[in-house]
Amino acid sequence: MSGADVELVLRSTRVVTPDGTRPAAVAVADGRIDAVLPYDAEVPAGARLEDFGDDVLLPGIVDTHVHVNDPGRTEWEGFHTATRAAAAGGITTLLDMPLNSLPPTTTVGHLRTKQRVAAPKAHIDTGFWGGAIPSNVKDLRPLHEAGVFGFKCFLSPSGVEEFPELDQEQLARSMAEIAGFGGLLIVHAEDPHHLADAPQRGGPAYADFLASRPRDAENTAIEALIAHARRLNARVHVLHLSSSDALPVIAAAKREGVRVTVESCPHFLTLTAEEVPDGATEFKCCPPIREAANQDALWEGLADGTIDCIVSDHSPCTTDLKTPDFASAWGGISSLQLGLPAIWTEARRRGHSLDDVARWMSAAPAELAGLTRKGAVEAGRDADFAVLAPDDTFTVDPAELLHRNQVTAYAGKTLHGVVKSTWLRGVRIAAEGAVGEPTGRLLERNH
Ligand SMILES: [Zn+2]
Repeated sequence: MSGADVELVLRSTRVVTPDGTRPAAVAVADGRIDAVLPYDAEVPAGARLEDFGDDVLLPGIVDTHVHVNDPGRTEWEGFHTATRAAAAGGITTLLDMPLNSLPPTTTVGHLRTKQRVAAPKAHIDTGFWGGAIPSNVKDLRPLHEAGVFGFKCFLSPSGVEEFPELDQEQLARSMAEIAGFGGLLIVHAEDPHHLADAPQRGGPAYADFLASRPRDAENTAIEALIAHARRLNARVHVLHLSSSDALPVIAAAKREGVRVTVESCPHFLTLTAEEVPDGATEFKCCPPIREAANQDALWEGLADGTIDCIVSDHSPCTTDLKTPDFASAWGGISSLQLGLPAIWTEARRRGHSLDDVARWMSAAPAELAGLTRKGAVEAGRDADFAVLAPDDTFTVDPAELLHRNQVTAYAGKTLHGVVKSTWLRGVRIAAEGAVGEPTGRLLERNH
């Protein structure tokens, strides 16, 4: 153990560490994990013991894809409600996406505005992605130096006019600029020409919506992205992968040494096109939820490491924007509070362990963002934990969710895994779904 005074020991018969799950006692000093000790290690004098019995001690979930929309569209969500829901769901760190707030995070001034708004409201540790739009190449390096974790861009319309997409030439220019200072470009990869060529029938039928966002749009955009990354030796990340057809291309690029990583989301991994009722636009997102066979292939991609991480892409809106017409309804799925149990429910059914879930939802997203203090139950990391009763079940009642708008595609689902408590830097911030005062810190890259 280090010289610091251990103030707290957390004990469980199932502690999920990078080396596997085992009985252990986790000593906490000054908000950090001081040591991971044998289960029956003596509790230092003056330290408090919390014994979770057989409940699982997981590293706090790291969600690098959240649309908080604050300031500007706070009727959709906000830092208070989003981070409160996250805390209740076992998440201890989130990174906010640069769009759907007003202003978007496309200049240092805008970043400062968002940080000022977030600081008093954050229940969990919170950082920011910057945005790459056609007009802000000159702002990318200053944003990087101001502490954003990387830059998001779109290749097709984003849905909001203040965040335009990049064409291929603009993509190459922004990517070269970002690669020049060693930054990371994260990409919504759907090709606008394939989308324009797809049938746009509109209306309440999910099959028509699915046909309007074909797999080819994703596959083509990802191939082009990989080609740029290879040529520029740039580091890129594919956001919210839905099309499993793109997996072989991604796997080949990784083998070849192209610096590409990939995320997918709970809705692609646990919901299927076949089950979406007509008019149920709480299931609408872009790219879309696809067929069950596609989902099986995505799980294979997770298992073989082609897909690195699972993040929520929590993208809420008010109920009135979820009209029954799939063409005009706002796209985005709310799942911040439910990601861990949703993924665990499907993972266990498919024979995966909580070690896998911790890697996909905590270690890998932390690594993506360079959050070296987050993502593992290991000495030296922040004492961030989710305590999970993995065999307990609950049925999702939207009215009980802490998001601002209780619209969710998971309504009525029975899920495995109840989050009993959440710990941030050694302090319990949520217990049995009740969340205390905001004590989250703002995070900057490499801090
Ligand atoms: Zn998103």
